[in-house]
Amino acid sequence: MFENLQDKLNKAIKTLKGQGRITEINVAATIKEVRRALTDADVNYKVAKEITDRIRDKALDRKVLISVEPGQLFVKIVQEELTELMGGEAQGINIKGDPAVMLIAGLQGSGKTTFSGKLAAYLKKQGRSVLLVAADIYRPAAIDQLKVLGEQVGVEVYAEPENKNAVEIAQNGIALARKTGKKIVIVDTAGRLAVDEAMMQEIEALKRAIAPTETLFVVDSMTGQDAVNTAKTFNERLNFDGVVLTKLDGDARGGAALSIKTVVNKPIKFISTGEKMEALDVFYPDRMASRILG
Ligand code: GDP
Repeated sequence: MFENLQDKLNKAIKTLKGQGRITEINVAATIKEVRRALTDADVNYKVAKEITDRIRDKALDRKVLISVEPGQLFVKIVQEELTELMGGEAQGINIKGDPAVMLIAGLQGSGKTTFSGKLAAYLKKQGRSVLLVAADIYRPAAIDQLKVLGEQVGVEVYAEPENKNAVEIAQNGIALARKTGKKIVIVDTAGRLAVDEAMMQEIEALKRAIAPTETLFVVDSMTGQDAVNTAKTFNERLNFDGVVLTKLDGDARGGAALSIKTVVNKPIKFISTGEKMEALDVFYPDRMASRILG
């Protein structure tokens, strides 16, 4: 994950580590390299500039220049700023409600259905009773896919293959959960290949109708800057509660993970790192920052 970024950041910082005496010019040169490493990793330019300006100010404030171990101090500052950039504290999901309803949104292929299955497995493991609802009314295959995943993780899946009204399906699913004492409902929705008006209106209507406890926006981290732009569009329409970054096991460059929080001001809550149902992690900004710095 993010090997390239890790490489470049470490190279940039190494120039500070090896030197006995550091000057402001050394710091400026390193900052420039750090900024380039970030933009090469697809981090939004404005975000990269802001964070590197802060790193520079902190480095000079904390007297990296006269520190006994300037390299180490600099790494610590970069670590703190990367953590802050990705949201600071880890943010869990809100599961209060009777039932708590999770609305899963995003583009087709982003990993929504896979994530729905994973989230169900994750909550079930915590001892909670969960119902999955298949509200993708365009792709019959999506219903089957969710059923397969539900079976795999031992969670019931509610579907109405003949019904073309996503709001109705979701409402019926929630009613069933109430009747059968299920505490959490996860609603998997339809996604198109690109953001389009009809799709946005449908998911907006769905959100209004079912008033979810959590609306989670699922996005493929491999799509870099596009991931950030899609997040912006979805957030403007849906005002979602959190982001799920998928496919971090691939060769994502890191831009989405590093820019999304700043651009939409919503926390990343989960990361998905594979196709298997266990490949889901709560997102911890500090752990991710440590990983990025190797
Ligand atoms: P949806 O259209 O948004 O519901 O997307 P799917 O859940 O069907 O996922 C699209 C494809 O991406 C499927 O082949 C999944 O197995 C795969 N996928 C989903 N999440 C991940 C992940 O974290 N890592 C990898 N490598 N593949 C994933």
